[in-house]
Amino acid sequence: MSSLLTTLAKDFPNIAMVSSDSFYWSPRKKTVFYIDEKLSDTVGEWSLLHEIGHALLEHQTYQTDFNLLQLEVMAWDKAQELAKKYKVVIDPDHIQDCLDTYRDWLYQRSTCPTCTSCSLQIDSSTYRCFNCNTEWRVSRSRKCRTYRKKQTAKLPVMV
Ligand SMILES: [Zn+2]
Ligand SMILES: [Zn+2]
Repeated sequence: MSSLLTTLAKDFPNIAMVSSDSFYWSPRKKTVFYIDEKLSDTVGEWSLLHEIGHALLEHQTYQTDFNLLQLEVMAWDKAQELAKKYKVVIDPDHIQDCLDTYRDWLYQRSTCPTCTSCSLQIDSSTYRCFNCNTEWRVSRSRKCRTYRKKQTAKLPVMV
């Protein structure tokens, strides 16, 4: 068992930590899920600290895509704070790569399919273009991701 996990579990007894097939925070279950075998490498530790960041900030389901990006930024800030405390060094490039995943995704979702103007989200699953009035639906995202995905088009969103 990872010593960081053991320490975090001891320091934050109110946050449940459960082994799973991806890293994510579930606001509903108040649980941080992690990939056990990834905890032996540094990126895995960063991901764990990031999810604990979401948990400590008590992040709920986000309302808009932009809101999700804000939550991600906040969770990484918190992870950096924790990293100092637990003597872990998180590479800032990794954080920017993760955030870029969301920025790319946000850009893609908010670009009008008709005229390619940048548009405004009107509810959790709908965008409307100011320029040509096209409206389009986007899938609801559930999970934020702590790692960069190449195919942003297929990014199902949030971990
Ligand atoms: Zn348009
Ligand atoms: Zn996150």
